[in-house]
Amino acid sequence: MLSFPFYADEKDKFSSASAGKTLTNYVIETKKPLLANLDLKKRFVKEGKLEHQGSLSKLWLGVPLKIKGKVTGVLAVQSYTDENAYNESDLKMLEFVSDQISISIDRKKAEQDLKAALINATESDRLKSAFLTNISHEIRTPMNGIVGFTNLLKEPDLSYEEKQEYINIIEKSSDRMLNTITDLVYISIIESGQVKISISDVNINEETENLFSFFKPEVEKKGMKLFLINSLPTKEAIIKSDREKLYVILTNLIKNAIKYSHEGSVKFGYLKKGKYLEFFVKDKGIGIPKDRQLAIFDRFVQADIEDKNVYEGSGLGLSISKAYVELLEGKIWVESDEGKGSVFYFTIPYNTEKKEISESNDTKIEDKSESQDKNLKILIAEDEEYVYEFLSIILKKIGEEILYAKTGEEAVEICRNNPDIDLILMDIKM
Ligand code: ADP
Repeated sequence: MLSFPFYADEKDKFSSASAGKTLTNYVIETKKPLLANLDLKKRFVKEGKLEHQGSLSKLWLGVPLKIKGKVTGVLAVQSYTDENAYNESDLKMLEFVSDQISISIDRKKAEQDLKAALINATESDRLKSAFLTNISHEIRTPMNGIVGFTNLLKEPDLSYEEKQEYINIIEKSSDRMLNTITDLVYISIIESGQVKISISDVNINEETENLFSFFKPEVEKKGMKLFLINSLPTKEAIIKSDREKLYVILTNLIKNAIKYSHEGSVKFGYLKKGKYLEFFVKDKGIGIPKDRQLAIFDRFVQADIEDKNVYEGSGLGLSISKAYVELLEGKIWVESDEGKGSVFYFTIPYNTEKKEISESNDTKIEDKSESQDKNLKILIAEDEEYVYEFLSIILKKIGEEILYAKTGEEAVEICRNNPDIDLILMDIKM
């Protein structure tokens, strides 16, 4: 003869406040098997532990289904006709079955986790390989251009036009390499959490107009048109923001719009939407497949993973832009139709008040343009001699005297002996 409740006893706390008053929930909460006959059920109903729903079965048997010690369900059987349908050995049997089911669910879950981990690992491996191939391509290609055409420049019988053409290629290759390296530097600063926001007055109309003048020749060279839509009058277009970051974001988006388009027009500008300015850069270019529209904001990711179309780029521009937009408390997204074009949008707060958290260093910098008329005494501390030579050539215009230190110690010594030095340019790694 069994005494009821079987296993579950009065000490078992059953709140059932949120769970619903059923025997299943009773087993889930108490984590114990339960064999309940009509008498017990009626007692439970009276005690408020069970809600009377429909006709009560004569005997109810349930055991918890546990995965890694956590109850994830209940295995239950009930009889409406026979109040002696199950006994203790049935309960033991059901517990055994429940254990077996739990083990097999557990195994299946572990299998699925392993499969997911394998897919992830394969995907990151593929991304890593694509990134390495891409980056080495992005560095090697311009480097070949620079080295190859510098050698060609040594040829004695070159015409003026040939020389200009080679110099142009060298310039373009250097720009491309510098872009890749700059992007790599930006992304490592972002990843290390070292990015500082520098807030100052930014006249956005001025910024967009400068970008318009800068990119117009490049767009027209491709036989396309560039349009700018500024929606605020200049006096309302001065906001508190980080000019440099805004410039980088817009430059990346416009460069991409030009790079990934072969005809039509590129339009960019902004609209004021409530407390935000919503910038847009629209092109009629190759577009982005729907399933790549989120991934392209991740670092080193290109829409065309295999790089079949061999567009220049390291897959960093958008992730840098995204990080900057978020630092400026905005959002960035894309709407695109493959083969028809893309519109990149981002928002930044329309903030005309000074921000306390991100006081700018820029704003404190005095206008030193006057000093350009002066003849300065400049110290260049640099261990690479060719860098010193390059700097001394370009600094000749403003420098009356240019001093050179090859080591940090030499630099300190020169400073001690020349307290009237106006400007020191020092290699950050010395
Ligand atoms: P990349 O240096 O490769 O251009 P980005 O991070 O700027 O890197 O862009 C990531 C990828 O997003 C690009 O490789 C390209 O596949 C896709 N993409 C970005 N902008 C556009 C655009 N305007 N039109 C089509 N595809 C674009």
